[in-house]
Amino acid sequence: MPVGGTEWLEMAREQVKKACDMLGLESAAYERLKEPEKTLEVSIPVRMDDGSLKVFTGWRCHHSTALGPAKGGIRYHPGATADEIKALAMWMTLKSSVMGLPFGGAKGGIRCNPKELSQRELESLTRGYVRAVSDLLGPLRDIPAPEMYTNAQVMAWIMDEYSSIRGEVALPVVTGKPVELGGIPARDTATARGTVLCVREAAAVLGLGLKGASYAVSGFGNAGFNTAYCMAELGCKMVACSDTGGAAYSPDGMDPVEVLAWKRARGTVRGFPGSTDVPEDEFFALPVDILIPAALEGSITEEIAPGIRAKLVVEAANGPTVPSADAVLEKKGVMVVPDILASAGGVTASYFEWVQNLQGSSWAEGELERKLEKIMVECFSSVYKMHRDMKVSMREAAFLVGVKRVTDAMRLRGWL
Ligand code: NAD
Repeated sequence: MPVGGTEWLEMAREQVKKACDMLGLESAAYERLKEPEKTLEVSIPVRMDDGSLKVFTGWRCHHSTALGPAKGGIRYHPGATADEIKALAMWMTLKSSVMGLPFGGAKGGIRCNPKELSQRELESLTRGYVRAVSDLLGPLRDIPAPEMYTNAQVMAWIMDEYSSIRGEVALPVVTGKPVELGGIPARDTATARGTVLCVREAAAVLGLGLKGASYAVSGFGNAGFNTAYCMAELGCKMVACSDTGGAAYSPDGMDPVEVLAWKRARGTVRGFPGSTDVPEDEFFALPVDILIPAALEGSITEEIAPGIRAKLVVEAANGPTVPSADAVLEKKGVMVVPDILASAGGVTASYFEWVQNLQGSSWAEGELERKLEKIMVECFSSVYKMHRDMKVSMREAAFLVGVKRVTDAMRLRGWL
C-alpha cells in the first residue's frame, strides 16, 4: 500500500490531464484543476477519557467550487493524509460534475482510529474539527457528508456544533444526517443503489444475463455490504467477499445478511460456514461474472488485473483501479464502470437531502428512489454514449463528461 496518498493524487491528476488533452482544452484548464482551491490543515486537541490530552491532525479541502458549493465526505482513518484528501476532493468535483449536480468537490479527513475511541472522545474530536474548519463550511459554501468510519451520528454532531457557532439551526450544512434531523431514509443505501443500477445498465449493454450471475465484493464494509444487499434484487449470487481479516468463497452463493451477522460476531467474513478461505492475491482471479471493489484505493493493480476473469467491474470504492491496471483490463475487453459514476448514488441522495433542507420540505421515500434511478440511468447513458462515440474506455468517457461540464462552468464564470 503506497504511503502518503501522493500516488492517488498523481493518479487523479493523470486522469484529469488526459481528459483535458482529449478535449483540446487550453493549458490553463488543467493548471486550475490540478491543484485544489484551498486546503486547511488543522490540529484538534482532545481530552481523552483517561485525562490525557491527544492532538489529532485533520484536513478540509475544497478542490473546486466552479459548479456550486463544495461537497464531499469526511473520512476518519489512521492512514488519512493531505494528498489522499486532495485526490478524493478532486474525484468529488468530477463525480458531482458527471452526475449533473450543482456542487463542486471537497473532502475532509482526520487521521485517527475511530475503533479505539469512546463515543465521548469521538464526539469531542468531531466538535473540535468543526470549530477548526467552520470558516470553510456553510450550506452555500461547503456541505460535508459521511465517508469511511463516519456516520449519521457524526453528521448530527457536525450540524449541532456548526449551528452553535453561527447562532442558527443550519440543517443544510451537512448531509447524511439522522432522519429525525432532516436526513432522508434512503441515504444509507443510496451509494449501493447507484452501484447496483450501474451493474444493471452495464449488464444490459453487454448482453450479460443477471439471473444467477455470480459476483465478488472486495471490502465488505458499508458500501460493500449494502451493494451486496441490493444485488439480490437483480437475482445475482454473491460467491465471494473479503475484508482486512481475509476472504470467504462459496460457489453456491452466500446470503449477505448472514455474512454480515457472522462478520459482526467475529470481526471478519473469513470462516463463514460453508465457505473456503482465499488468499488476498487470488481473490480477484476467482471465476465470477461481476467484480465489485468496495474497499480502499488501489486494490486492483497491474499485477492483479491480468488474472481477473469477470466481464464487468463496477467500482463502489473511490479509486480502486490503478491506471496501469485499467490499461490491462481495457485490452482484455473487461468493462469497468468507474467510481465517479458507479459510487455517485450517495452524493446524488445528499443533493436531495440538501434541497429538502433548504426548502423545509420532505419527499416520499418512493419519490427519492425514482429520482435517484432516473439520474443514475441518464448519467450512465451519457457516459456510455461518450464511450461508444469517442471509442474510449468508460473511465475516460466519464472524465470527458465531467471535465467538460466543470471547465464550461469555469469559462462562463470568467475563470479561464
Ligand atoms: P468501510 O470502512 O465501511 O468498509 C471498508 C471495508 O474494506 C472494510 O470491511 C475493510 O475491512 C475492507 N478492507 C480494507 N482494506 C482491505 C483490503 N486490503 N482487502 C479487503 N478488504 C479491505 O468503508 P466504506 O464507507 O464502505 O467505504 C469503502 C469505499 O467506498 C471507499 O473507497 C469510500 O471512499 C467509498 N465510498 C463510500 C461511500 C459511503 O457512503 N460509505 C460513498 C461513496 C464511496
